[in-house]
Amino acid sequence: MRNILKEKGFKITPARLAILQAFTKNKLPMSAEDVCKKIKSKKINEVTVYRTLSSLEKGGILKRVDLRKDSVYFELADQHHHHIVCTNCNMIEDFKNLEIEKAIEKVWKNIITKSSKFKSIREHSLELFGLCRMCM
Ligand SMILES: [Zn+2]
Ligand SMILES: [Zn+2]
Repeated sequence: MRNILKEKGFKITPARLAILQAFTKNKLPMSAEDVCKKIKSKKINEVTVYRTLSSLEKGGILKRVDLRKDSVYFELADQHHHHIVCTNCNMIEDFKNLEIEKAIEKVWKNIITKSSKFKSIREHSLELFGLCRMCM
């Protein structure tokens, strides 16, 4: 965690460390409220949590995940993957799929050559929404 912060040019602070630790342990996307709950014992106030999340996002350590919820969700930006979200109980599962990655790359090249407004695509996100086994 210290290394990630240093690599990206961040000074090490207790809040940054605690928040990154929470993300490393939890692995799944978390909202600011989730983070606050996880690091409650560290006595870091909410404003600091919000501010730290946003600066870690700008620094490329965290990234935003759109889970179609009211709160903004974040996760570590280190490994590209996608999510399945239960629309009933909000359970989240990560998944990786090489075929999807290949297909998206192939398709986007095609899309971009036909687009009159866009010249390049740099990244993509894909979230699937459904019902988990418990909610079926
Ligand atoms: Zn569910
Ligand atoms: Zn992908």
